[in-house]
Amino acid sequence: MGKGLLIVISGPSGAGKGTICKRLLEKNPQIMASISATTRAPRSGEEEGVNYFFIDHNRFKNMINNDQLLEYAEVYGNYYGTPKKYVIENLEKGNDVLLEIDIEGALQIKEKFAEGIFVFILPPSLQELKSRIINRGTETEEDINTRYGSARGEINQVIKYDYVVINDDVERARADIEAIIRAENCKVLRVHEEIKLRF
Ligand code: 5GP
Repeated sequence: MGKGLLIVISGPSGAGKGTICKRLLEKNPQIMASISATTRAPRSGEEEGVNYFFIDHNRFKNMINNDQLLEYAEVYGNYYGTPKKYVIENLEKGNDVLLEIDIEGALQIKEKFAEGIFVFILPPSLQELKSRIINRGTETEEDINTRYGSARGEINQVIKYDYVVINDDVERARADIEAIIRAENCKVLRVHEEIKLRF
């Protein structure tokens, strides 16, 4: 059995990454979602071990020192990181793994897993991005301004990714990502070993 695909999704806050990933996971039970650790406080409705592992700064530092994170970054004033064990174990088992992480983290992953699939989600416009962050109603005004203020700089980094998906419709964006995964699974380099065994 081959190794699973590592799918890395990034994009500015308000691009709709969370909703797209949720639909992708609902429709594709073979994709395992990595759950990040964060020092950010839970938002209302968020659950420990479902949305994130909510930990304090000391525990986060310990995870870094014990080499338990595949990558980590400070995003909008809080730390976020990907626990290593879950990702490695699932890829080895042949499961696909989805990471929804910021750009700095994605670039760290790219150094370690050049064969990963790096997808950038864009909103239809900056105007739409701002109204989505505001309408979400989960951030303070200061947070909204920080997130919106970072968006243009983040979007400039799209060139470092393999694919871009514009989220003007969640189901279409989900289908685009499924098409990307399908195409990646057909890449000769990924299936070459299996072909040699079979033919
Ligand atoms: P939020 O606070 O809205 O849940 O997430 C803020 C940002 O942190 C988003 O861009 C999200 O993709 C990113 N993020 C979430 N988990 C991780 C992680 O494990 N590592 C990194 N580098 N970024 C993350």
